[in-house]
Amino acid sequence: MRRKACPSTDCSAASAPQWSLTAGQLHRIPEASRALIDAHMPAVRYCSYCQAIYSMDPAVIFGWLDNNVAGAGWRPKLADS
Ligand SMILES: [Zn+2]
Repeated sequence: MRRKACPSTDCSAASAPQWSLTAGQLHRIPEASRALIDAHMPAVRYCSYCQAIYSMDPAVIFGWLDNNVAGAGWRPKLADS
């Protein structure tokens, strides 16, 4: 399922495939962030290039899962970044 490009300003891939977040991915995200993400389902997407997890409507980035630069695991986006 292809979606419009990732909203992350750090993402350099203009047309990387954007996937729906899977239950397995959601399960790996800590409870505090997961509750917020779950509230935005099913509009939550996962960028195949930068691993950003975000909502399409409204556009908000929650964080990154297994980012190539930051490393494995969950890295939440800071509220003021
Ligand atoms: Zn991206």
